[in-house]
Amino acid sequence: MLIDSHAHVQVRQFNSDRPEVIAAAFAEGIGRMIVPGIEVESSREAVALAAAYPGRIFAGVGTHPHDADTLTPDALAAQRELAGSPGVVAIGEIGLDYYRNLSPQDTQRGALISQFALARELDLPVILHNRDSHADMIAHLRQHGAGLRGVFHCFIGDKSMARDALDLGFYLSFAGPVAFPRNTELAEVAAWAPLDRILVETDSPYLAPPPFRGKRNEPRHVALVAARIAEARGLTLDALADATTRNATALFRLPPLDPQEDTSFHAPV
Ligand SMILES: [Zn+2]
Ligand SMILES: [Zn+2]
Repeated sequence: MLIDSHAHVQVRQFNSDRPEVIAAAFAEGIGRMIVPGIEVESSREAVALAAAYPGRIFAGVGTHPHDADTLTPDALAAQRELAGSPGVVAIGEIGLDYYRNLSPQDTQRGALISQFALARELDLPVILHNRDSHADMIAHLRQHGAGLRGVFHCFIGDKSMARDALDLGFYLSFAGPVAFPRNTELAEVAAWAPLDRILVETDSPYLAPPPFRGKRNEPRHVALVAARIAEARGLTLDALADATTRNATALFRLPPLDPQEDTSFHAPV
């Protein structure tokens, strides 16, 4: 079984065929997925999906740095309430994005700090988005993140950035870019990182791996990400799937799988 640790299947890109996309992933051995929110409404939709697929889909509740200016005190209170719902396993996605700067950087930092506090209060891991903001992210984790655990989602960086995250006890989650042919350096980082600290994800509907680049991404394509990392590490796909599933289960404290469910992994075609 594989776990897609980051798939926004609640968003409008899946409005026409969401049940089919989810069923296709399950049928191909993607037994579980984590669906992170982007702001309050998409967090609410993630919680609804977790309720519709108990034990298979889990939700993150959070406000993305792009939407940081929507995180009013009322929105934060709504997130706190939502985060108590069944199936919520993380605060996320949250973070910093100094590449697009869709919310002012000050606002992004404020939203990050208040959501760190929420994660600590609720004893939930954080799902971090971090783009062109590495030094600030590490500084904020050191200054405001004591006691937090979590994952750097869609990790894109070199070994020294990876080491910063690992030294803070965080996991690294790799997405489609690790499978892009020109990204041999990222594949090297994925091969070098400790096997008990890596996760795999799609970040659907974005960042589809080859041969689907430029198309809508789907959770079933996480097998392509896993296959690329397995190749880089000299492991079988099954071994990589087992390790990353164990890691995601530990980080998000997922309940044991219902033994009745068929989640056997079938290699992608
Ligand atoms: Zn992100
Ligand atoms: Zn995301």
